[in-house]
Amino acid sequence: MEPEVIGLAKQLIQKPSYTPDDAGCQPLLMNRLGGQGFQGEHHRFGEVDNVLIWHGDSPGPSLLFLGHTDVVPPGDLGAWDHEPLSAHVESGVLFGRGVADMKGSIAAMVLAIEKFVGQYPNHPGKVALMLTSDEEGVALDGVKKFMPLMAQKHHFDYCMVGEPSSSVVLGDTVRVGRRGSLHVNITVKGQQGHVAYPHNAQNPIFLAARAIDELSRFEWDIGNEDFPATSFQVSNINAGSGVTNIIPGELKITANFRYSPESSQQSLAEQLQHILDHHQLSYELDWQLSGEPFHCKNEVYKQALKASVKKITGVIPEFNTAGGTSDGRFVAPHGIATMELGPINKTIHQVNECEKVAHLVQLESIYLDLIQRLLLK
Ligand SMILES: [Zn+2]
Repeated sequence: MEPEVIGLAKQLIQKPSYTPDDAGCQPLLMNRLGGQGFQGEHHRFGEVDNVLIWHGDSPGPSLLFLGHTDVVPPGDLGAWDHEPLSAHVESGVLFGRGVADMKGSIAAMVLAIEKFVGQYPNHPGKVALMLTSDEEGVALDGVKKFMPLMAQKHHFDYCMVGEPSSSVVLGDTVRVGRRGSLHVNITVKGQQGHVAYPHNAQNPIFLAARAIDELSRFEWDIGNEDFPATSFQVSNINAGSGVTNIIPGELKITANFRYSPESSQQSLAEQLQHILDHHQLSYELDWQLSGEPFHCKNEVYKQALKASVKKITGVIPEFNTAGGTSDGRFVAPHGIATMELGPINKTIHQVNECEKVAHLVQLESIYLDLIQRLLLK
């Protein structure tokens, strides 16, 4: 017999919810859980659907599951062995766009929550599921807008994000945070002139070179036990008009910080300006914060998740902060201890995206065990 979690994952995969179209995934889950005494609140911002579904209003710990119903496009259809929305199972493996990122996790979360509420209808605390339909896109009308609204009405202690964190076997890797990402465009001003009359000009390339050299060697911080040191990279540098006899008037640099919680946007900006000032540059800066870092330091939560993973899979998870950013960056700033555990990430965003049926069954059991450990303790 097919496990229930696979049946639900198939139903979700068969809906063409390409970013930002939810394509009926959230109503399907609202209807399903609504019939079992859950409450829900839906908000649509622009083209993006967001929903919070929750159960329980008694005092006690509260756990929020976070996920996204949108998926990336299939890419080259001819390269898929089975139609990407057919949710085909073969030799114990479920194939389909979104099975690992992250409709499989959503199905596991829903089954875990249902079983918990079925077993403990008067449980202490609150268990909830938040879904958006724009995580894979620009992510402006998703959790970024929805979470502040919901945080006014609900208190959450813990957040579990279902992003595919595992690498070889289910549960081998848990994300306990993510690095921040900060972009900066630097314009260095010089004085345009004839290359034969340098005393009448100021070459911004020479001026910037010394500062870039120092920036490339500067130690912004040394990281900490869960985060590598902050890195600064220059991705683009442009100056000059293409002709050979003009000293350019300005130089443009595009750079990015991937930063640990040991630094902040403010500390990095101050230090960067300090270095540019030290080299007596005349400059303009244009900053764009893509995501602040977050870091789960809650030992109760970390130990509970470790125990759940070990009990269900026998594996002791490695805690790390690798990978890009996730929607967890919009939850953690509300003071909610946030971690990520989900399927194997080997095939995400690829053709023939897949995950083992057994892994999704295990994931449901881990989530259920985690709810019990956190809410019934
Ligand atoms: Zn994802």
